[in-house]
Amino acid sequence: MLIDLHAHSTASDGTDTPGSLIGRAAAAGLDVVAITDHDTISGWTEALVAREREHPELTVVTGTEFSCVHVDPAGRRVNLHLLGYLFDPDHIALRSEREGQRAFRLARAARIVQRMVEDGVPITWEQVDAYAGGGPVGRPHIGRALVAAGVVPDVNAAFAGPLSHTSPYYVSKPNTDVLRMIDLVRDAGGVSVFAHPLARRRGPVVAVDAVAEMAAHGLVGIEADHPDHDDAARAQARGLAADLGLIITGASDYHGTNKSRNDLGVCGTVPEAYEALFDRPTARRPAG
Ligand code: AMP
Ligand code: FE
Ligand code: FE
Ligand code: ZN
Repeated sequence: MLIDLHAHSTASDGTDTPGSLIGRAAAAGLDVVAITDHDTISGWTEALVAREREHPELTVVTGTEFSCVHVDPAGRRVNLHLLGYLFDPDHIALRSEREGQRAFRLARAARIVQRMVEDGVPITWEQVDAYAGGGPVGRPHIGRALVAAGVVPDVNAAFAGPLSHTSPYYVSKPNTDVLRMIDLVRDAGGVSVFAHPLARRRGPVVAVDAVAEMAAHGLVGIEADHPDHDDAARAQARGLAADLGLIITGASDYHGTNKSRNDLGVCGTVPEAYEALFDRPTARRPAG
């Protein structure tokens, strides 16, 4: 069984349409794939239709990767990503939270681009917006504009330079408090998993106490096997899972050609963990 519980489409910052993501998942030999675009469910319908029409053998888990923040007792804020799976897309409070996140995202991307334009970087908002194709604008879309303008050779170089969280152009997002998001996902019948908890390359990561607080608050799983985790990080995440009673997942965080090291299926979730993840009274069921 090949189970990949984290993949992006053009509904956020991936490069495959939701329908072609399903085709690629089937071609990669996956049995289960989750569509988890940033802050949106807008890819779900197309993905589910493609599954039903073209790949009924594939199980599709609908999800979203939410941009969150953890605030510790000293007021230190650390941004993190929370995967919410199988929640009711019509749950009003969660819907309004997603809408708020997308609005923040838009304003923040516009400010980053504005700072670049004012500094003479030869990109335009129209260009970045076109790369996002009407979906939530993320730094990868700005990265593609920087590559097209010849400012950097590739998107990775953009993330290491002008788009990094230490760059003068960087603007942070006022993300949702992670404990609130865990509540919202559960209230909406979903299951939450802490995405790439120890991906230090992306910036500061939360302390063990924070993970314990999240677990006590209803976090269900933790992504241990992820391309941004080295062996030490994977082992540490497994240790946290054992200590805190969390389910261990693994996933590629596929983004198409926007991220080269994240091919579908490079990391996966074992069947027992997958079953345990969704085998709970409050959870809805995947399609297929
Ligand atoms: P944002 O959500 O706008 O803060 O941008 C962060 C997103 O950019 C992450 O969720 C990743 O999907 C993506 N990302 C991070 N590092 C890279 C990279 N080196 N190349 C391409 N995409 C990246
Ligand atoms: Fe992304
Ligand atoms: Fe992420
Ligand atoms: Zn992701």
